Amino acid sequence: MKAELISIGTELLLGDIVNTNAQFLAKELANLGIDVYHQCVIGDNEERVLKAFNEAFNRCDIIITTGGLGPTQDDLTKELGAKYFNKKMILHEPSLDWIKNYLDIKDEEVLEANKNQAYFPEGAIILPNEKGTAPGAIISENNKTLIILPGPPKEMKSMFTNHVVKYLSDITGEVIKSKTLRIFGIGESLMAKKVNDIIQNSINPTVAPYAKDYEVTLRVTAKEKSEEKCEDLINPKCEEIKSILGEYIYGEGETSLDTVVAELLCNKKLSISTAESCTGGMIAETLISYPGISEVFKEGAVTYSNESKMRRLGVKEDTLRIFGAVSEETAKEMVEGIAREAKTDIAISTTGIAGPGGGTEEKPVGLVYIGIYIKGNVIVEKFNFTGDREAVRRKTTMNALNILRKELIRNY
Ligand code: ATP
Ligand code: MG
Repeated sequence: MKAELISIGTELLLGDIVNTNAQFLAKELANLGIDVYHQCVIGDNEERVLKAFNEAFNRCDIIITTGGLGPTQDDLTKELGAKYFNKKMILHEPSLDWIKNYLDIKDEEVLEANKNQAYFPEGAIILPNEKGTAPGAIISENNKTLIILPGPPKEMKSMFTNHVVKYLSDITGEVIKSKTLRIFGIGESLMAKKVNDIIQNSINPTVAPYAKDYEVTLRVTAKEKSEEKCEDLINPKCEEIKSILGEYIYGEGETSLDTVVAELLCNKKLSISTAESCTGGMIAETLISYPGISEVFKEGAVTYSNESKMRRLGVKEDTLRIFGAVSEETAKEMVEGIAREAKTDIAISTTGIAGPGGGTEEKPVGLVYIGIYIKGNVIVEKFNFTGDREAVRRKTTMNALNILRKELIRNY
């Protein structure tokens, strides 16, 4: 089965936005085993879009468009789909109700243009939009299928994942299922090297690495006649990967490192406090975004200056003078200080040089010490991070959480 992507929007042609929709869809279709040999970008222009439909359908069975589903004059995609397939546009009442309700909740007025968003080519399958107003549509005739998705990436992705994947699986006669293993503490290339044999030799399920912000994932995808059969292929493969990557894998599916750590703390009922210098509250902020953390999170102190480290945490003046604020000794006294003051089972401290200024030969930008206190035991780890200020602070936060995660799994 062959598909083509048509990304519609003048902004894309002008280079005002990057075509991330095409990137996402191309990857997803490859995973579904559907071949994509052509993609194109077209402005909001009737004649050229229709011409592109004609040309693409001469080569393929399925066209997926993104963009041009909104309420404005230049949003033409559905109308052009109707024109191509020679269909009338008719009102889809449930969509109109849904749009009215969606705008009502947001306290926005329903304009005439919004009503147009509830008109679809006759006979189309309507794709609900859980993240916005404009529903998508699938029009299919004579083995030619046009799938119309919205432009905003959030809306497009959820519509594709929740509705289109199932549709495509049905027409290919196969179910596709995947599981994502989330990995932290190892770079993409080293990880890929460790599991290279598995990646290269796995055909069904396939195993594909992805690099995300500061973490990597492995997606295991199986194609079979039923969900159960997919799982029978996926689960042993995940076990095989886990036996190699071990505790680098921090979770599965839709989760995050901070969620996993927050869950561990709550489940084990271990109280926590933080004393942050270079991360400036980022660790506290990250943990507090987890609902339910109030049971265990007691206090987060941003102790940025030497004076604050001494007064608030009891770091000794001598320690700061002899070893400096960015040192193993200071990180240790910081974490002991906050644990003592806040009376918690666990504490985290950070001290480092986030840059861009402030580095020396001995203590370069990116040098960071992370202190972890767990029931009287203290670990201090030293890192030399690369990247700009934001990256150093983010990496510090994630590594602190990861050290804690590993300790909690091993010992508590
Ligand atoms: P809207 O209801 O917002 O008008 P729409 O379905 O009509 O949605 P467009 O108007 O084409 O979509 O695009 C809306 C926004 O979605 C763009 O401003 C852009 O931010 C984003 N967008 C559109 N197409 C793409 C794309 N191919 N890749 C990434 N982002 C895109
Ligand atoms: Mg639009």
